[in-house]
Amino acid sequence: MAVRGLRAGLGAARPRGMGPGCAAGLRSASEPSDPGPEPAGPATAALYVHWPYCRKHCSYCSFNKYVVPAVDEAAVRACLVREAQTLLRLGHVRSVTSVFFGGGTPSLAAPRTIAAVLEAAAEVAYLPAGAEVTLEANPGSADPARLSGFRAAGVNRLSLGVQSLDDAELRLLGREHTAAEARAAVEAARQLFPGRTSLDLIFGLPGQSHEAWARGLEAALGLCDDHLALYQLTLERGTALEAQVRRGALPEPPEELLADMYLSARTALAAAGFHQYEVSNFARKGARSTHNLSYWRAEQYVGVGPGAHGRFVPWGEGGRQREARVQTPHPDAWMREVRSCGHGTRRRAALSPLDQLQEVLALGLRTDEGVTQQRWGLFSPRLSLEAAFGAPGEARELQERGWLRLNGRALRCTPAGLPLLDSLLPALLCQLRRRWNAVQEEDGGGRDSR
Ligand code: SF4
Repeated sequence: MAVRGLRAGLGAARPRGMGPGCAAGLRSASEPSDPGPEPAGPATAALYVHWPYCRKHCSYCSFNKYVVPAVDEAAVRACLVREAQTLLRLGHVRSVTSVFFGGGTPSLAAPRTIAAVLEAAAEVAYLPAGAEVTLEANPGSADPARLSGFRAAGVNRLSLGVQSLDDAELRLLGREHTAAEARAAVEAARQLFPGRTSLDLIFGLPGQSHEAWARGLEAALGLCDDHLALYQLTLERGTALEAQVRRGALPEPPEELLADMYLSARTALAAAGFHQYEVSNFARKGARSTHNLSYWRAEQYVGVGPGAHGRFVPWGEGGRQREARVQTPHPDAWMREVRSCGHGTRRRAALSPLDQLQEVLALGLRTDEGVTQQRWGLFSPRLSLEAAFGAPGEARELQERGWLRLNGRALRCTPAGLPLLDSLLPALLCQLRRRWNAVQEEDGGGRDSR
C-alpha cells in the first residue's frame, strides 16, 4: 500500500547500485567459498516472506503485487521453501527471531504454504516456539476457518488491512471488502489472536474531511485490539488514484489538513491508552511488533519471495559486509531463478560502514527509543553519538528547537519532532557524513563522498 512510513515487511532504505544476478555468478549457499571468521555470537535474523498475489488492484497501491487468473501454489510454495533455506544458510543464520508474511495478500495463501515455510526455516535455523509470526490479512480472506488454519500453521499475530470502516472510502481506495466485512474479520481475528491483532488504517484520502477521519478513528478504537498502524496516503505515480488527482477529478489533500489529522489521531490514541512507539505505530499493553522493531533497530533480516528486501552478511559466499539485497520482482522470473540456483536475488549492494550508520540513524529516529548509545556503538566503535551530534551543528540546533534530544542513553526525536522527521533527516545525515569523513581523514583513510 502506498502509505506514509515504513511498510511492514519491506526495508525502508533502498539499496544503492546493482549487483550481479543469479545467472551472472551469485553462488548458491550450497557451494560456499571460504567464509573466513564468523561473527562472535550466533547470527540471528528476522525473516520476511513475500506473497505477491492479490485478488484485485487497490487504487492507491504501488507495491509489488500481481493479479492473475490462477496461482500454481504448489510451485510457489516449493520456491519459497527453497529460497528461505538457501538464504538462511547463506547468512549462516542460526536463530530466526521473528517471521512476517507480507504481500500482496498472504491471507490468500493456503495455511499449508505458511506451515511449509515455517518448517523449512526451522530445519535450517532455530525458530523459538514463542517467536512472533505475523501474517498480513485482508478482511476479504480472513474468515474464521481460514484464520484458524493460519493459527494451526504457526501464525501467532495478525495484521489486518482494514484501512477504513466507511464503505465510500473503501470504494475510493478500490478495496475488495466492505466495512461490515472488516468488522467481522476484526472480531474473528481477536477471538483467535487475542492481544495480537493489529489494524492498519489510512488517512488523508482525497476529499476526506477532518471530521470523517476522526469518526473513522473513533469507530476503529471501538473495535480494535492493542495495536494500530496509521498511514498517511501517498499518491504514488502509476496508481489510479494519483491519476484521478492529477486530472483534477479528485482533490489533493492539503498539507495542513494532513498534519492536523495525524496530530489529532495521536491525541485520540494516547487518550485510549496507546503509546506511540514509531512514526506510524501505536500499541498498548506492550503489544509492539517485534518484527518491525528489528528493522528500525537495523538488525539483520532475510527477505524471501518476489521483490523482497533483505539486509544480512552473506557469510556462505565469503561475504564480510552486510548487504542490501532485493529479490527478483516478477513471480515467474523469480521462480525460474530459484529453481536454477536456489534463490532469486536480483540486486545486491555491499553496505559501507557509513551506509549502515545512515540506516541506523534514519530508522532509529522513527522510534520512541531512538538510536541508543549501545546500538550506535555496535555500528560505530570509532565515532560516538556525542562526537557525531553533540558538538555545535545541525543536531544541536534541532535540540535547541525542542525537536531532538541527546542524552547518555540515546539520540531521539521529541514528540514534537517526530512528525517532522522527514524534514529533519537531511540535515542530520549531512552532519553525520561530515563528522564521519573528519574521523576517516584523522585516521588517514579516504573520504566517503556518497
Ligand atoms: S491488497 Fe494490499 S498489496 Fe494488494 S493491491 Fe491492495 S494494497 Fe496493494
